[in-house]
Formats: sequence, structure tokens, C-alpha cells
Amino acid sequence: MIQMEFIPYHKTQRGREVSRNAQQKRRNLGLVIRNRDIEDHRKEFLLKHNSPEYKARVALRNAVKDNKIIKLLFCEECGSGGTIHGHHADYTKVFEVDWLCAFCHGKRHWKKEGE
Ligand SMILES: [Zn+2]
Ligand SMILES: [Zn+2]
Repeated sequence: MIQMEFIPYHKTQRGREVSRNAQQKRRNLGLVIRNRDIEDHRKEFLLKHNSPEYKARVALRNAVKDNKIIKLLFCEECGSGGTIHGHHADYTKVFEVDWLCAFCHGKRHWKKEGE
């Protein structure tokens, strides 16, 4: 008689692969956000408290509150939902914003700083 050992699905090679793929997919969609990314962005935000960026954000927030601007519920870049930020390409154009998830928003800023 052959002894069959029961292996939970998530511990099999195939199961591990499936969960790894799912994680990768979430990461690609920007749904997995590393804490460091958020902290960096927050630090940057605090540093620029008196910057045009900060003022643009306040003006934008008020405009959204007053229904002058419709805030998108998904990221314009990757289409994921969750917390969506309004990103200004030009802070003097307060009402010209890209709606981005935290991940894509972070990427925009890293890109800019890399220039
Ligand atoms: Zn995104
Ligand atoms: Zn931004």
C-alpha cells in the first residue's frame, strides 16, 4: 500500500508559484505599497510645507470639496483603486492634476528627482 502524505496546497510547488504570481500581479498594479515609499513621500511632503506644491494641494482639496473638480476613484496610470492622490505636474496650474494611486504617485516624484 502506498502511503500518501497530505501536503497543503499553499506548501506545494504549484501553490507557492500561484501565490508568488498573485503577489507579483498586485505589486504590478501598485496595490502593494512598501511602507518606506509612503514614509519618504510624507517626509518630502512635510519638507515642502510652504512650497507651491503644498499650496496647490490645499487649493485642489478645497476645489474637490466644493465639487469644482471631480476626483477620480482609480489611478490614471495603472487603473487600481484605493487611495488616489491628485498629482500636479505644474503647481502653478492648480486644477490640472493627474489622479494617481500612492504607488504611481511615488514613482512620478522619484522620476522627477532623478532628472
Ligand atoms: Zn497607479
Ligand atoms: Zn505629486
